[in-house]
Amino acid sequence: MIRISDVLDKIDEHTPGADLDIVDRAYIFSARVHDGQVRLSGEPYLSHPLEVAGLLADMRLDPVSIAAGLLHDVVEDTHADEKEIEEIFGSEVLHIVSGVTKLSKLNFSNAAARQAESIRKMFLAMADDIRVILIKLADRLHNMRTLSFHKESKRKNIAAETLDIYAPIASRLGIYWIKLELEDTAFMYLMPEEYERIKNKVKTDKDQRDDYIEKVRHMIAEEMKASHMPCQILGRHKHYYSIYKKMKEQNLDFEDIYDIIAFRIIVDTTPQCYEALGLMHSRWKPIDIKFKDYIGRPKPNMYQSLHTTVMGHFNERMEIQIRTQEMDKVAKSGIAAHWSYKEGKSANESVSEKFAWIQNLIENQENFTDPDEFMENVRIDLFPDDVYVFTPTGEIRSLPKGATPIDFAYMIHSEVGHQCTGAKVNGRMVPLKRKLKTGDCVDIITLKGHSPSKDWLNIVKTVKATSRIRQWIKTQDKERSISLGREMCEKEFRKNKLNYNRMIKSPEMENVLAAFGFKKTDDLIANVGYGKITPLQVVKKLVAKDAPEESHESILEKILEKVRKKKKERTGVIVKGLDDILVKFGKCCQPVPGDSITGYITRGQGVTIHKKRCINAKNMNQDRRIEVSWNEDTNASYPVTLSVLSNDRMGLLADLTTSISNIGANILSVNSETYQEENTVKTFLTVSVENTAHLKKIVAGIKRVKQVHRVKRIYN
Ligand code: MN
Repeated sequence: MIRISDVLDKIDEHTPGADLDIVDRAYIFSARVHDGQVRLSGEPYLSHPLEVAGLLADMRLDPVSIAAGLLHDVVEDTHADEKEIEEIFGSEVLHIVSGVTKLSKLNFSNAAARQAESIRKMFLAMADDIRVILIKLADRLHNMRTLSFHKESKRKNIAAETLDIYAPIASRLGIYWIKLELEDTAFMYLMPEEYERIKNKVKTDKDQRDDYIEKVRHMIAEEMKASHMPCQILGRHKHYYSIYKKMKEQNLDFEDIYDIIAFRIIVDTTPQCYEALGLMHSRWKPIDIKFKDYIGRPKPNMYQSLHTTVMGHFNERMEIQIRTQEMDKVAKSGIAAHWSYKEGKSANESVSEKFAWIQNLIENQENFTDPDEFMENVRIDLFPDDVYVFTPTGEIRSLPKGATPIDFAYMIHSEVGHQCTGAKVNGRMVPLKRKLKTGDCVDIITLKGHSPSKDWLNIVKTVKATSRIRQWIKTQDKERSISLGREMCEKEFRKNKLNYNRMIKSPEMENVLAAFGFKKTDDLIANVGYGKITPLQVVKKLVAKDAPEESHESILEKILEKVRKKKKERTGVIVKGLDDILVKFGKCCQPVPGDSITGYITRGQGVTIHKKRCINAKNMNQDRRIEVSWNEDTNASYPVTLSVLSNDRMGLLADLTTSISNIGANILSVNSETYQEENTVKTFLTVSVENTAHLKKIVAGIKRVKQVHRVKRIYN
């Protein structure tokens, strides 16, 4: 068992001339209040705070921390209270001791392993003084060293907690020796068989391996010396737990892990790193063609180094890291970020910077000559932006600083947020605007059917709560707007003699929605409710005539639609694919059955039939042409105008009409032009004709009339 004199010697050794009085007094106080208590090992309880103080002295902490280390269990385990400690040792010691006590009260046992990261952060956040954590680590290290006295089940729990929480924290703080010991001890209790197996295997060839390290170091040193590069060469065994992790992660047998020894070459400059790499690669064949260049591409945590694995002198895999002094320093300081990187989490720069600073502090605290300056530097807020709180079931949730119970409620579930009517913090009702603190246990009270308040937007801090509340308000607003919009539309529709309920479901409504750019009727109606669209605008769009911007096809279709509905006035022409269509005949060319014809779709006038040869038909929009044919079955007749050139004589018109009526055709109109100088006359006769054969007969008959020179069918 370590004695107080050993502790004092250590302090004096690291910090000559330090004021040891406070340590002495803490020891006496601790001995008095712990008197009669024994550890599970049977040793007096005092041995524990003494060992912790010894570890803190090894970490080169200041006398105040070591005094606090001696007192770290008195508040929790003895009759001494905080007031007494403050009176005897001052507020600084009390602050640290109560910080340790607070952490000791945290119960990690029921927290799921996946929350380890939150717990670690919470742990750090709760300690506003880094020394609290350092004492906690020393405390845990000693407890791990004496874990064998605990019951089997308790051992496993404590070991698991150590592996999940304490070892990573030690690593993050850059206190490697504590991290490695915590890991290996926890490993021993958690997986005793694996631990023993690896331990024995490492031991078997230990001498051989040490010999190997020496040989390789010598070879590397020779190469470097030949190239005039001053360097430092380190070779070290990996720890048992590191070996186990590697075997597990890469699914390897122990025998396959040759690089349980890693070499590190530390040089002066960056170019020397690459030069050294070249030397190593020319001496030993690299296994991976691509070595890892973290100098050219630093890790997110700013870690820089060259990593290569070569086939060594004894045909073994050999891992070599090459870096500068500066990079080595950064690698150590940036341990925190390195750790979170390994766990697959992105490194938060401000966090890693802080830890780098702490690392620096731990390494350089002997440089602080002024104790006040040191104090100033160790009082820090590790995670100023987060608070960590418990759910009633003991789960940890992290929230931004300033978050309220409403934020917490929305973090649990949107419905819990919506229905939140109150909150209990640490068992007491609190206002919903209360800012949560790390360590608070929050219980949300809900009421079914309760709804969020707009005012909450002013007090919530998280994005989730804000967006859920906004969303809820929006939904509410929309519902109100829809009913208002519907009312307004119904009124306007009635005015225009439209049935709202029927129109709203009609196909025309689709076009109106599209015209306004909406997908759902509700959206359109809601916008009427919001006042962005007037109901009259909706009605106007609904009854609008063919819009000019409509496509050709739809225009055509609409025209045909209307034309179809009109009563058929004439028969005799079949329009392809269309029954019951209004057909008209071009006045310009007057087609009759037997003429080859074409159809032309007109706006609102149906299909006009032209002779194919008709000049007008040829000039028309070809898109509007439609195929037509004569219907042989009808006995309709068609007007044809004929021009008859003859001598101007008495009785001519009577002869012409007799000739026409003899053939069974009706005359629809007669006109004439007289040319006196030539004594001729042109008579225009419009006759009703059945077909081209009928027309031929009529023409032949007219030609037989006396003094008729020429008969001509008139068309353009
Ligand atoms: Mn303790």
